[in-house]
Amino acid sequence: MENIKNCMVCDSDQNEVYLKCSDYLVTKEDFILTQCKNCGFVFTNPRPTIEEIPPYYNSKEYYSHSADSKSIISSIYNIVRNLNIKKKLNLIKKVTKKQGLLLDYGCGAGLFIKYATSQGWVTRGIEPNSEARAVCKELGLTVEAPEFLTSINEQKFDVITLWHVLEHLHDIEVVIPKLKSILNIDGIIVVAVPNIDSWDAKKYKENWAAYDVPRHLYHFTPKTIEKLFTKFGMSIVSTHPMKFDAYYVSMLSEGNSVLAKIKAIINGLRSNIHAKSEMNYSSLIYLIK
Ligand SMILES: [Zn+2]
Repeated sequence: MENIKNCMVCDSDQNEVYLKCSDYLVTKEDFILTQCKNCGFVFTNPRPTIEEIPPYYNSKEYYSHSADSKSIISSIYNIVRNLNIKKKLNLIKKVTKKQGLLLDYGCGAGLFIKYATSQGWVTRGIEPNSEARAVCKELGLTVEAPEFLTSINEQKFDVITLWHVLEHLHDIEVVIPKLKSILNIDGIIVVAVPNIDSWDAKKYKENWAAYDVPRHLYHFTPKTIEKLFTKFGMSIVSTHPMKFDAYYVSMLSEGNSVLAKIKAIINGLRSNIHAKSEMNYSSLIYLIK
């Protein structure tokens, strides 16, 4: 385990306990989330080191390429995920107005870049999981291990996407400036992360599935994500809801009974209704320049 002394956003060494929660998916171990007293950034602390983290991903449910799960949640998730992929690309198209070179950082089994490729984009993927990379290769996609990022020098990307990936990265202080350096002048970075200020996060507290400790190392709000990217000389251009995440996260947070699923649907709906006025959805997509 490693202790984080200084806040990654503002460098302050003053932090306090924000919440205690446990790894509900794999180990049931307890973890602490601390909040920076200066800027409000919340992070898992202490956290497994990059060498210690792989066993915490030891779950069939976890990787997006394990399509063998037959639970109702998984089936619904798969249907909605395909719809979401289209929505995500449409959102990007609205901003870029042309197809260009797209890098999906943490591309999993390549579903997003596979669709983007079919829509005329030239795509690259980066993915740490070797099994997922093998799946991508079978699909004919160009996907590399994370080490590849440091070797990119000349190539500039029009769009770089991180779909629920930023919260998993040990070295954001290295990755974000590197991604910025390989972005075209008018390019955009697209980041989707859970929002701990959402109604469902507050409703479920330590049982909120999107804390997902210790796999999620950071727990963002719209304010802290803005501060983080400002630190690296970038700014948030616009923020967009991921409405299905409220239902999905509520389902994971509730448990397995039929009654729990019904409650989850109601709470997902309530979260989305509450989120409307302040753009405080369960998960948010940030377009960053
Ligand atoms: Zn801070």
